[in-house]
Amino acid sequence: MRSHYCGQLNESLVDQEVTLCGWVHRRRDHGGVIFLDMRDRDGIAQVVVDPDTPDAFANADRARSEYVLRITGRIRMRPEGTQNANMPTGLIEVLATQVEVLNTAVTPPFQLDEHGKVGEDVRLKYRYIDLRRPEMIDRLRLRSRITHSVRAYLEDNGFLDIETPILTRATPEGARDYLVPSRTHAGEFFALPQSPQLFKQLLMVAGFDRYYQIAKCFRDEDLRADRQPEFTQIDIEASFVEEDDIMGMTEEMIRRLFAEVLDVSLPQFPRMTWHDAMRRYGSDKPDLRIPLEFVDVDDLMKDVDFKVFSGPANAEDGRVAVLRVPGGAKLSRKEIDEYTKFVSIYGARGLAWIKINDRSKGIEGLQSPIVKFMEGVIETLLDRANAEDGDILFFGADRAKVVNEALGALRVKLGGDLDLYTKAWAPLWVVDFPMFERDDSGRLAALHHPFTAPACDPETLKQNPESALSRAYDMVLNGTELGGGSIRIHDQGMQRQVFEALGISDEEAREKFGFLLDGLAHGAPPHGGLAFGLDRLVMLMTGGRTIRDVIAFPKTQSAACLMTEAPGTVSNEQLKELHIRLRQKASDNTTT
Ligand code: ASP
Repeated sequence: MRSHYCGQLNESLVDQEVTLCGWVHRRRDHGGVIFLDMRDRDGIAQVVVDPDTPDAFANADRARSEYVLRITGRIRMRPEGTQNANMPTGLIEVLATQVEVLNTAVTPPFQLDEHGKVGEDVRLKYRYIDLRRPEMIDRLRLRSRITHSVRAYLEDNGFLDIETPILTRATPEGARDYLVPSRTHAGEFFALPQSPQLFKQLLMVAGFDRYYQIAKCFRDEDLRADRQPEFTQIDIEASFVEEDDIMGMTEEMIRRLFAEVLDVSLPQFPRMTWHDAMRRYGSDKPDLRIPLEFVDVDDLMKDVDFKVFSGPANAEDGRVAVLRVPGGAKLSRKEIDEYTKFVSIYGARGLAWIKINDRSKGIEGLQSPIVKFMEGVIETLLDRANAEDGDILFFGADRAKVVNEALGALRVKLGGDLDLYTKAWAPLWVVDFPMFERDDSGRLAALHHPFTAPACDPETLKQNPESALSRAYDMVLNGTELGGGSIRIHDQGMQRQVFEALGISDEEAREKFGFLLDGLAHGAPPHGGLAFGLDRLVMLMTGGRTIRDVIAFPKTQSAACLMTEAPGTVSNEQLKELHIRLRQKASDNTTT
């Protein structure tokens, strides 16, 4: 129906006849001449309709915002003085000869360029209108280029795109499952996959050697953070590989992606152990654009006459650390109070600080409510922190977990607030994770998932599970975990040992993962892989603020779709077929 997209028009087409199809972005009546800004996914072009073409003029006259039109006309230069250099098509316009109304439109719930005036709920309810905004189109277009680049790289490297089931059993990523009742097996349920983990491992057992999939995953998690109940992974697995093979290939893939799509050349990714990352940044996904690092001062604080510091300094699970912020002495009381409130979200009970006004004056040159407790150690402390005039030192003193989270989050916040970034992109690998962590109930839980291979032998794992490291690796970019993976266990004995450490009995393992254990017994090759969170990757690459910005039809924070109104009620007949009776009825015939 069309010869060109609106955004493709330019001065090289002057005098040519073109046919455009699109939406009325804006209509202006200029005393007898009608101007239509026509929009499609490629951009906006100005169309002029004058009364010399009466049919065209009549249709243009009745056109309103978001009407769908087909327009034929001739390209001409805009008259001197009316050209718009800020617009890609701003030098030309189309003099219409035909205007056809393909469809009318009711008044839109918001004007595209006034989307900021309505709440996100309105934009999500009318998502198809919101998606007409050039910014949204650009993001989804970039998303498509990103998946294209990734697919091309993986295909070039011998990976096969293989689909795995959506209706399946619970998978082991540790979140809550989405369940689907079975009609044909009364009382039984499918689970939607939290990841294709076990299937991709079984594809390795089958001998496919290199697999990938752009896979939908489902996790019924707490959505307060920027998460979605369904999200997309670039899922990868390969056989006869070690850590360096997977890390090397996927790093190359991401480097090629950034070069192709953003024209950015990423450096070689540095590697950092989990232990170092926690010690230096309090985080397993440190944002290395920010040059600030923690300085440990436990040894200095053991004997100070200040319980808030000496307590944690002497406690086995305690930590006292300092964060030096260059130029931070200019922070006001009010700003410091706000940071104190901020760290309290992470469990910190306060935020001690010292401002370095003039180091040459010794203790007199410092400003702080706590410095009086530290006379004996202050010089060593300032030296160790490399403190200079104009700095502020912030302290974290608590259980190590609280210090890491609170001071780690403060580091990132200050990096943004004071614009301390030293580079645009800071990728890295985090390696040598512990195999296990203690959950709130004191039980060991897998830090990645229970199919991650330990870096030690089964006997050592049995003796000392808590100090065992895993063969896992995470790729981190600008403080966001882009992806994570590991070399897997391919040996049944080792798998049993890991289950035992996790307190999973043989029966439970059989009942949940029997099919995988059987697979491992049938000639499983050494294998490993990784999965990237595609939504996060696209968000970072497009500069989106949340992953909702890069998902065409996202869900709300309460895991609902405002447009389709899913989840919705179903009839009692449907429930009956599914062998389900609800404990509570929402209304007479229907249920929520
Ligand atoms: N299945 C893992 C996840 O979804 C990734 C992997 O180990 O490959 O986090």
